[in-house]
Amino acid sequence: MDSTPHVRPDPRRVAQRLDGNALAGMLDAFAGLDPALLLLTCGHCGRSAALAEWSVEMDAAAAIVRCRGCTRTFATILRRDGGIEVRAAGGSISTPSAV
Ligand SMILES: [Zn+2]
Repeated sequence: MDSTPHVRPDPRRVAQRLDGNALAGMLDAFAGLDPALLLLTCGHCGRSAALAEWSVEMDAAAAIVRCRGCTRTFATILRRDGGIEVRAAGGSISTPSAV
């Protein structure tokens, strides 16, 4: 007899498999938000700081965002066909909790 107790999954923690459209509501928090309010966290050293406190190397084609704590690349932002492409190297971007 199996002595492992049956654990019923918590319905609040069961993930649903959806397509990317499901993120539209969550990502609305970024739209129209002043980028200066974003909090970036380095995936290498864990330093968290507002966007203005990161180091940026920029030319006509691209910008490289570097952590001032460990100097590793956080993201590369490229100009492409009138738009931009963001290549995330590691870490996270969060909005203020009051958004
Ligand atoms: Zn870092």
